[in-house]
Amino acid sequence: MQVQDKLLDGRRVAEDIRANVAKRVEALKERGIVPCLATILVGDDPASVTYVRMKRNTCERVGMNSRSVHLPEETTTEELIATIQELNADEAVDGILLQHPVPAHIDERAAFDAIDIDKDVDGVTTLGFGRAAFDLPGYRSCTPKAIVSIIDYYELPIEGKHAVVIGRSPILGKPVAIMLLNRNATVTICHSRTQGLPDIVRQADILVAAVGKPRFVQGSWLKPGAVVLDAGYNEGNVGDVDFESSLPIVSAITPVPGGVGPVTIATLLQQTAESAEKRATRSS
Ligand code: NAP
Repeated sequence: MQVQDKLLDGRRVAEDIRANVAKRVEALKERGIVPCLATILVGDDPASVTYVRMKRNTCERVGMNSRSVHLPEETTTEELIATIQELNADEAVDGILLQHPVPAHIDERAAFDAIDIDKDVDGVTTLGFGRAAFDLPGYRSCTPKAIVSIIDYYELPIEGKHAVVIGRSPILGKPVAIMLLNRNATVTICHSRTQGLPDIVRQADILVAAVGKPRFVQGSWLKPGAVVLDAGYNEGNVGDVDFESSLPIVSAITPVPGGVGPVTIATLLQQTAESAEKRATRSS
C-alpha cells in the first residue's frame, strides 16, 4: 500500500466543503444576504492572531463577509460579554467566533455562554454542547464535527467500532466522544489520570488524539489497521501522534498539517452559511 493510500487528506475534504459553501453563499447573495462571521480576539497571542487571520481569509475565499473585533489583553469579562451582546443584536452578523484561549483573568465559560445559540457557529456554548449530546439539531463544535466529516468523506465505518478518544476538553475531546457515541461507536475517553493508556489505545479501531502533546501517541500503542484522527496542532507543525512510527501500523491517518485543521475552518464556514440561510428564511 502506498503512503498516499493511507492518508486522510483534510485539504481535499475542506475543499469539498468550501465548494459547497461557496455555492450556498452565491444563492444567498441572490436573495440579498451576505453571510457574515464576526471574530473576537482578546490580546495578542501570536498563534491566536494567526488562527483568526486564517479563518477570516477563508471567509473571503468563499465570498463571505467577516468582521474583526480585536480587544486589548486587559479586557474584563463584563466588557467582553458586552461586545458579544452587541454582536448578538446585530442582524447582519450570522456567526460569532470567540478565539480560544482568552487571557486567564477572563471567565471564558461565561463569555462563550453569552453567545446567542443561533449564532454559536463554533459550537462552544453549554446549550450547544447539550444539543449535540442529545443529537438535536444545532451547530456542533467545529473540530469534532470536522473529525466526523473526515471519517464520513472516506466512508469509514463508525457503528460498532471501538473509538478511543484521548482528551476530554469541552471543545474537543468530550464533544467528539459524544458525537461518535451518537453514531453508535463504543467509546472510551482517556485523560491525564487514565492508567495504562497504551493498552487502552491498543483496543481502538478509531483513535482520536486531542492531547496537546507533540508526537505523544506511539505507533507501538496502535492496533494494526486502526484509523487515526490526529487533532493535535503543536509547535513545529506536529500533531499529537508520532506519524512516522504510526504510518506502517494504521489503515488510515490524518497528517499534520493538512488533516483536521483545514476541515475545522471549513466547518466553521459551513455552519455560518447555515445560520445565514436561517436569516434569509426569517426575512423572506
Ligand atoms: P486541552 O484543553 O489542553 O485538553 C487536553 C486533554 O488532553 C485534556 O483532557 C487532558 O486531560 C488530556 N491529557 C493531557 N495529558 C495527557 C496524558 N499524558 N495522557 C492522557 N491525556 C492527557 O486541549 P484541546 O483544546 O482539547 O486541544 C487538544 C489538541 O488539539 C491541541 O494540540 C490543540 O492545539 C489541538 N486543537 C486543534 C484544533 C484544530 O482545528 N485542528 C482545534 C482545537 C485544538 P485532563 O482533562 O485530565 O487534563
